[in-house]
Amino acid sequence: ELDLAESTAKLLGARVEAQTVHAVDDVSLAIAPGEVVGLVGESGCGKSTLGRMVVGLLNPSDGAVRYRGKTYGELKGEAQRKARLKVQMVFQDPMSSLNPRLRVAELIGEAPRVHGIVPRREVKDYVADLLERVGLDPTTARRYPHQFSGGQRARIGIARALGVNPEVIVCDESVAALDVSIQAQILNLFMRLRADLGLTYLFISHDLGVVEHISDRIAVMYLGRIVELGEAEDVIRRPNHPYTQALVAEIPTLGTEKRTFAAIKGEIPSPLHPPPGCHFHPRCPHAFDRCRVERPALKDVGGRLSACHLNDDARRAA
Ligand code: SF4
Ligand code: MG
Repeated sequence: ELDLAESTAKLLGARVEAQTVHAVDDVSLAIAPGEVVGLVGESGCGKSTLGRMVVGLLNPSDGAVRYRGKTYGELKGEAQRKARLKVQMVFQDPMSSLNPRLRVAELIGEAPRVHGIVPRREVKDYVADLLERVGLDPTTARRYPHQFSGGQRARIGIARALGVNPEVIVCDESVAALDVSIQAQILNLFMRLRADLGLTYLFISHDLGVVEHISDRIAVMYLGRIVELGEAEDVIRRPNHPYTQALVAEIPTLGTEKRTFAAIKGEIPSPLHPPPGCHFHPRCPHAFDRCRVERPALKDVGGRLSACHLNDDARRAA
């Protein structure tokens, strides 16, 4: 059994306004081959930073991201290039991540050609196959990104990632910009590709409702820390951490208007000055003295991990 991506990234030093932000603090997450892990939290909680570290766009200042047991830095030359291709990212906004001056044929075909995955004379057929795989007509290869709908651009972004034969795909808000019905289509596509190609996903979203149905496990992040991690069904049906409970309460049921995080009391604090103790304490309806001074550790609670003092406090039962 392999750790496709184990991150024990600690104290990532991102320079913002000349201050060091600990965007991701002491996160440990191992993803098994073929697994889908949903990573959920409000914007600014560090989940995109974690995603960028997993694909190697950012380096943790302390700790490591390992792909099949090795960090990118431990691999040299050709081996590093190959490992990095195996972990691809599908970005938040497909339009901004696609060069508007390039035709789809180039957008999708360039990386496989440059990396020698497909010979030049076969690129056209290769692109046509990828377009079909993501549900687009191969003749669309001639067109430019602006000639597609949001959902179609999402498919192009996915075809592009698939072109280099990845094993792991990090999806950062990959369906966030889409209408709910289109979201469902793209999520279905992700799941079909997983079944066909044996892909592994780290699926990052601010919306627990989006990751609910596709994840094997769900990790909930709050201000740079994972506060709950467990089987998706456990986390959704029996959330342990008060923050997860609030997120679950806000999953919109079908046909109701989509609600936002405003329903959780207060704003997410700045990661520049995270509250001491449990980062969630200023917003937590159950906070007590210990929460303001002592950081709760992730502990096994009935088969999932949760970081909340209530779990070893008699108050839980009360
Ligand atoms: Fe709330 Fe305290 Fe648990 Fe944090 S540790 S979630 S403040 S009860
Ligand atoms: Mg983000």
